[in-house]
Amino acid sequence: MTNPSVISLRDVWVFYGETPALKAIDLDIEDGEFLGLIGPNGSGKTTLIKVILGLLKPDRGKVTVFGAPPDRLGRSRGLIGYVPQRSQGDWTFPVSVRDVVLMGRYGRIGLFRRPTAADEAIALKSLDAVQMREYAGRHLGQLSGGQQQRVMIARALAGEPLLLLLDEPAAGVDISAEDQFYELLGELKEKHGLTIVVVTHDIAVVSSHVEKLACLNQTLYIHASPEEVLTAGTLQKVYGCEVELLAHGRIPHRVVEEHD
Ligand code: ADP
Ligand code: MG
Repeated sequence: MTNPSVISLRDVWVFYGETPALKAIDLDIEDGEFLGLIGPNGSGKTTLIKVILGLLKPDRGKVTVFGAPPDRLGRSRGLIGYVPQRSQGDWTFPVSVRDVVLMGRYGRIGLFRRPTAADEAIALKSLDAVQMREYAGRHLGQLSGGQQQRVMIARALAGEPLLLLLDEPAAGVDISAEDQFYELLGELKEKHGLTIVVVTHDIAVVSSHVEKLACLNQTLYIHASPEEVLTAGTLQKVYGCEVELLAHGRIPHRVVEEHD
């Protein structure tokens, strides 16, 4: 079988109490896909990521990741790297960049075993991959938002994942740094053969970097190339408001206008 689905969701529903957060989601994410998952605030993006990670069990439907239900992945769980949505001021505690990245090895070495020289080497290689090795001895709190996010990716990479899930990784990062950030993800994907799902509500920047976009607002509206998504009028449906066409990067993209 060529290009089997790494992630597969069939008729997935999630309720918080009586309120649905996800409705009838069908989604297949293929091996090696670089997917941008977009949708307005509260559209269920984080919920969907939690379902894929097995942190949240859907009320209805079927989920498989690497061919197994996410809560029964066993050793394959180590194949998933996760960069959670961050809240401001998370990284003020005095921990070195090197130690943060080493935490990414715990899934492999177990919490209570000391990291070996090989673990240290992988941690440093991961910092190389995001061009942050020279900061290994710094405290995380001394870095810019963009640099901190690179470190969080290095931490995920240190677990040697095949699938990388990132929840709004570029939030709080300026636009030029954001562009570089997605470029970096693209390079990592090519180099390590990763499957990447990146959650964002910033269509503008992500469209010119990913291969596919999935538009979520409780239901999944479309899963297609950015070109198709941007010409299909989908954004209007998903965001429920007017969008404006702008030229940015290699393809035109739209920016959601402020609501009155
Ligand atoms: P997004 O990541 O797209 O902003 P979320 O998946 O975080 O959206 O949330 C989707 C909806 O579910 C929102 O309306 C949110 O308020 C609600 N929600 C999220 N988590 C919980 C929870 N633990 N309990 C109740 N409601 C929740
Ligand atoms: Mg979210």
